[in-house]
Amino acid sequence: MFLRPALQRPARPRLVADAPTTSRRGFLAACACACALPAVLSSGANAQMPPPSSIAPAPARPLHAALDESARAIEGRMIAWRRDIHQNPELGNQEVRTSAMVAAHLRTLGYTVRDKVAVTGLVATLKGEGGPGPTLALRADMDALPVPEEVDLPFASRAKTMWGGQEVGVMHACGHDCHTAILMATAEVIARHRADLRGTVVLIFQPAEENLPDGEIGGARRMLDEGAFNDPKPDAVFGLHVVSGLTAGTLGYRPGPAAASADEFTITVHGRQTHGARPWGGVDPIVIGAQIISALQTIQSRQVDSGASPSVLTVGQFHGGNRSNIIPDRAMMNGTLRTYDEERRQFIMRRVKEVSESIAQGMDGRAEVSWLPNGYPSMANDPTLTQRMAPSLARVAGEGALRMMPPGLAAEDFAYFSKAVPGVFFNVGVTAPGLDPRQVPTNHSPRFRVDESGLLPGLRAMLHMVADYTGSGVA
Ligand SMILES: [Zn+2]
Ligand SMILES: [Zn+2]
Repeated sequence: MFLRPALQRPARPRLVADAPTTSRRGFLAACACACALPAVLSSGANAQMPPPSSIAPAPARPLHAALDESARAIEGRMIAWRRDIHQNPELGNQEVRTSAMVAAHLRTLGYTVRDKVAVTGLVATLKGEGGPGPTLALRADMDALPVPEEVDLPFASRAKTMWGGQEVGVMHACGHDCHTAILMATAEVIARHRADLRGTVVLIFQPAEENLPDGEIGGARRMLDEGAFNDPKPDAVFGLHVVSGLTAGTLGYRPGPAAASADEFTITVHGRQTHGARPWGGVDPIVIGAQIISALQTIQSRQVDSGASPSVLTVGQFHGGNRSNIIPDRAMMNGTLRTYDEERRQFIMRRVKEVSESIAQGMDGRAEVSWLPNGYPSMANDPTLTQRMAPSLARVAGEGALRMMPPGLAAEDFAYFSKAVPGVFFNVGVTAPGLDPRQVPTNHSPRFRVDESGLLPGLRAMLHMVADYTGSGVA
């Protein structure tokens, strides 16, 4: 389980909410980040399918046809790379093999590559030979999840590794293997068409999007701290995410706020141990904890304007005690906060602390509340840039296959890049045609299955956006 030392002590208190399967599921619950995006987490019979966008496709230039031809020519190798990465998944900050493979590929293509950025990240640049133009960053994430794969594939992962002091199965359950393979293919096609490329392309291959244990700061935030956007500084950044919520062959986007902030908190309730038959002889931290959990839900339902924008506060773990007739000294819980609004984020963080501490104090105990320092801010697509690039996505997707995504409460650390410069983050469908995207296992599931026919539209979308943003191929 994840991995806070306090939750791992041998005589760990155990309680009602502590399901017997926590060893693996607890991991997922503890991951602060759930990148994937909208529709993904709202699967189920009540979920709506994202409606088609009304954006008209931009007219094509000869360069688009040439890029499409190169994309089709590299599709088989892109899928082979994806399978290789899928079969050899690596957790955050452990992407040594993946990073080395990508770096070797980029160097062969003539990119200037800086490696070991934020542990295993890469920053690669290529200057076009088609004339002056803007600098554009493209980002892919490389990390897998501590999830044991349950998909029946010849290249399924059997990998295991240590994570937070425990051996775990590892799987690309969020599809970052696809992102890495798509950006490797993008890199090669761009290099092949370098004579037509205007401006400069900066490729970012980042580690640890899924966040790190024990509050460690990594991924996009650390890459920026280590100068990923310094030399050269991009004028814009694009990224994509494969999602189970869309059929392969469709693309999705959303101007403005598109992913929530994610912050993880821990509450330790201190009581005083006593016999279960003599509760008056001590202070029961489990009863205090139950009161705190109930009261925390009233912050969201009674203290913020839920009509203005969504937010969610979830307690995902509650541990306390190890016998039916012993009231323990302590109970511990942790949970996650998701919201789009920075003011609300700060308000709820403050109120969680005040409510918890005052309830515990009123019941003769004491609560310690801590927020981990590696939370993610909310992510917004730059409205103007998104409107400008949407016709490129419509051109690639074709009639009716570009979808307007609903807002969701998943999080994505691309937020750091798109706070630094204007950004567009779009979705690529990977559910096999014929299946209902609302009913299939979602990203992060051990049964998440990618239909690889969705990768080519993702590659083409990147290439068309590069050509259109940089003005390449314009006579
Ligand atoms: Zn992801
Ligand atoms: Zn994810």
